[in-house]
Amino acid sequence: MHRECAEFAVQVCPFIVYGSNYRKNPTLNTDDMARMVDNDNPVIFCVSVASRYRYEPSAGVFVIHPDEQLWFLHGKPATPEQIADAKNKAQAEIESQKT
Ligand SMILES: [Zn+2]
Repeated sequence: MHRECAEFAVQVCPFIVYGSNYRKNPTLNTDDMARMVDNDNPVIFCVSVASRYRYEPSAGVFVIHPDEQLWFLHGKPATPEQIADAKNKAQAEIESQKT
């Protein structure tokens, strides 16, 4: 995706900006969705600008090496505190899945 298009999307897409929406009619089946994206709206979004990436076939994911990360909350740039809170919540979710 073009950087300009990604930045525009995180500022105007209703799913991203309003933050309480969910995917009503996913085009992929549930198993595919679970492997690729969070079905719930994470509210905070990050645009990762990367010049390097690789596909990891064993996990079925792209591993990116971001040069820059742009965080948005409800369509506006997120504060450092909001970013830290989101990262802490994500880490707690990962830790809860390990047990
Ligand atoms: Zn584009």
